[in-house]
Amino acid sequence: MKLHDGTLYWPTTLTTKFSVKSPKQVKKQYDAIVIGGGMSGCLMAYKLIKQGLTVAIIEKREFGQGSTAANTGLLQYSNDIMLSELIQQIGKKEAIRFYQLCYEALNDIEKIANELPEEVDFVRRPSIYYASDDKDVNKLRTEYETLYMNNLPCEFWDEATLSFYMPFKKPAAIVTFQDAEINPLKFITSLMNYLQDQGVNFFENTEVIKTSYENQLVHLQTTTHLFRAKDVVYTIGYEKNQNTKKEDTVFNRSYVMVTKPIQSDTHWHDKAMIWETKRPYLYLRTTAEGAIMIGGMDENISQAQVDETVLEKCAEKLLKQTKSLFPHLEIEVDCCYAATFAESKDQLPFIGAHPTKPHHYYLLGYGGNGTVYSALGSKIISDLIVGRENNDAHIVSPKRKDTDKHLFSSTA
Ligand SMILES: Cc1cc2nc3c(=O)[nH]c(=O)nc-3n(C[C@H](O)[C@H](O)[C@H](O)COP(=O)(O)OP(=O)(O)OC[C@H]3O[C@@H](n4cnc5c(N)ncnc54)[C@H](O)[C@@H]3O)c2cc1C
Repeated sequence: MKLHDGTLYWPTTLTTKFSVKSPKQVKKQYDAIVIGGGMSGCLMAYKLIKQGLTVAIIEKREFGQGSTAANTGLLQYSNDIMLSELIQQIGKKEAIRFYQLCYEALNDIEKIANELPEEVDFVRRPSIYYASDDKDVNKLRTEYETLYMNNLPCEFWDEATLSFYMPFKKPAAIVTFQDAEINPLKFITSLMNYLQDQGVNFFENTEVIKTSYENQLVHLQTTTHLFRAKDVVYTIGYEKNQNTKKEDTVFNRSYVMVTKPIQSDTHWHDKAMIWETKRPYLYLRTTAEGAIMIGGMDENISQAQVDETVLEKCAEKLLKQTKSLFPHLEIEVDCCYAATFAESKDQLPFIGAHPTKPHHYYLLGYGGNGTVYSALGSKIISDLIVGRENNDAHIVSPKRKDTDKHLFSSTA
């Protein structure tokens, strides 16, 4: 499955490389094996080695070449489903806790970024979530009150305040604080070097075909070696395996355009990340190199593969959208790509144990806040693996209370 197509931006910004020092021999057994070497796999391995476990990561491509390379790096505590809507969906206690977990996950990512030797461009930024239409203003006000009452840092801006701070006019906005931007590829490149130094074994161009049990261990049959582990964690992103079903997931194709660095003053308050109430939504951020990155225009197509002329047209459309918000800027397209993007039907990630296959765990951060989900999920799964109680696991469990909304096929 091709996860992205076109010219990616982040590879051009890398200042360090990651090279796998393949261990001469596969260990006789690992405490845990992580399947998938992207953002989720690396965060998972980080949490597991902090528990003193022996860990290997197995990746069928080269490391970091999955959706992580296409990730635009907006880290937000707010989700595609508003807190006020999530309360209606799963109840007040769970919904508020889920938002708190997202807020705390940002602190976790910051802590890891600070531990790494290289700069990964993690910067705290506010997010501006504007009403695309007058009819969304009341909804935004309700959401603002819900966030505020639950101690999540935010403000409500009316049209005048928004146009004082930004060069565009919209009916209103919620501004959330303590969000952040990151360069996801720099982050995992540095994290992989760190993990390798800490003794994590990396195996690339190695695909896990299937798992079985023998002598109380999970046996992983792959395209290169046989691996044995006490526990396995699937961090396979938007790809499927024999255990999962597709019905509870929506697959789209999304587009991202990045401009050449902007030379003039952007008149862009605090370089805030910007998104909107319309669905599918547009979102924008600036980069450490001074470019603007804009994404959106989701289509109901799961294939990332796209014709060159379609990509050029999308780049032009995204350029036009950027100009409509920042009309004073001289902007030019630098690169553009399309990528597969998955979200669950109830807009929550799938994180936790397989219901019938012991020692099999899933960390699938489906949704716009995927990195935040990878971080909060790695904590939940490491608790489950070491047998520590986790009172939040049920909120994101792949087999949720509502039996229509679970991940696994009945035959698994
Ligand atoms: C266009 C776009 C923009 C996005 N923007 C944001 C954003 O701003 N903020 C945010 O938080 N999230 C964002 N996301 C979501 C984010 O990219 C994902 O949540 C994140 O990349 C998921 O990381 P991952 O490690 O789970 O998946 P991946 O990076 O795809 O890694 C999974 C890996 O598993 C490997 N694999 C699969 N099957 C096997 C197997 N059988 N054996 C071995 N290896 C296997 C794959 O090769 C792949 O490398 C965005 C996504 C897209 C597409």
